[in-house]
Amino acid sequence: MIFNNVDFETYFKHYPDQNGYFGKYGGAYISDELKNAMREIDEAYFTICKSAKFINELRRIRRDFQGRPTPITHLERLSNSLGNVQLYVKREDLNHTGAHKLNHCMGEVLLAKFMGKKKVIAETGAGQHGVALATAAAYFGMECDIYMGTVDIAKQAPNVARMKILGANVVEVTHGLATLKEAVDAAFEAYAREYKDAIYCIGSVLGPHPFPMMVRDFQSIVGIEARAQFLEMTGELPDAVVACVGGGSNSMGMFSGFLNDPVDIYGVEPLGRGTALGDHAASLTYGTEGIMHGFNSIMLKDENGDPAPVYSVASGLDYPSSGPEHAFLHDLGRVKYDVISDDETVDAFYTLSRMEGIIPAIESAHAVAYGMKLAKTMGRGSVLMCLSGRGDKDMDFIIEQYGMR
Ligand SMILES: *Cc1c(COP(=O)(O)O)cnc(C)c1O
Repeated sequence: MIFNNVDFETYFKHYPDQNGYFGKYGGAYISDELKNAMREIDEAYFTICKSAKFINELRRIRRDFQGRPTPITHLERLSNSLGNVQLYVKREDLNHTGAHKLNHCMGEVLLAKFMGKKKVIAETGAGQHGVALATAAAYFGMECDIYMGTVDIAKQAPNVARMKILGANVVEVTHGLATLKEAVDAAFEAYAREYKDAIYCIGSVLGPHPFPMMVRDFQSIVGIEARAQFLEMTGELPDAVVACVGGGSNSMGMFSGFLNDPVDIYGVEPLGRGTALGDHAASLTYGTEGIMHGFNSIMLKDENGDPAPVYSVASGLDYPSSGPEHAFLHDLGRVKYDVISDDETVDAFYTLSRMEGIIPAIESAHAVAYGMKLAKTMGRGSVLMCLSGRGDKDMDFIIEQYGMR
């Protein structure tokens, strides 16, 4: 399918280009030292990850350890309550550890092992990426250093405990505001020091090239499975595909399976409390072009041009930018980006739980809320949503903040 001069038949051969660009977005805006490290990863990726040995090992792990393929569930009761549109969810909540993040962590740490590295390094905010990476590191017997701000360590005690039980070192970052931004800087500094023995594992389709491409490729299993399963279940493709967008990894994984199909694709960003800067994290909807954390994308900036403060009820979505490929697909118009508020999300969280027996992650509930809205406007057809994770982690917070419904 050709869309605005981009041929999606051959899209993955050309995007990103050799230098990691999706159109004008992406690239690698980093120190010379880190450039060497990235070049090493880039070369390893293109040799190791294309080898039958690597691919077969990753397939075996996905089946025997992660429990893939994850199913698609038809939400019959919810669909009937809304009208004639049929809603479906891809169940990444049933992937081991309860979310999609393990898909790229297993790929990244397997690559580290093939490269002969001894350690993996990352930062974490809410702790979800840290837990997924600590899980992968435990599986492969690798050392694992997770950088985390003092403030987040205090807020995310259960995830800190999980990481420690899994054998990771949680490295406390005390300077500045002691949250995610400082943790990112500290983790990158550690990587620049240790890259001979270690590899940095990014948590989404973000950061300098080759990470946005690598993480997309590792997550593409979501879209590949979903497309085949949906065809098998219904004999057709869905009319619309929906996923929530924080950094953008579960959505890129899902979307990559459908870019070349006559399917409407929707990326859902968190509107939080409203449209004022600081009240949301809808970077693609309200942001402008800019460089942060080593790549060019669309971002939310404060008056000095620095990354703006962001907010969402979903801590996995409150990042002031999104991956460069999303910025590209946004400008191209191939994916439509739209927003869902905290209140709509919490409604969807309870509705899906009550009507279908699935408690969604509060991030994923954004996609469900949007799919429910679409169902009302479409009148007929089918919508496939990515249920990126399960909601056990969010229950206490939702009840405390919004009350039991
Ligand atoms: C981290 C997380 C997200 C957001 O990350 P993406 O890279 O945008 O996918 C969404 N859902 C869940 C369950 C998460 O843990």
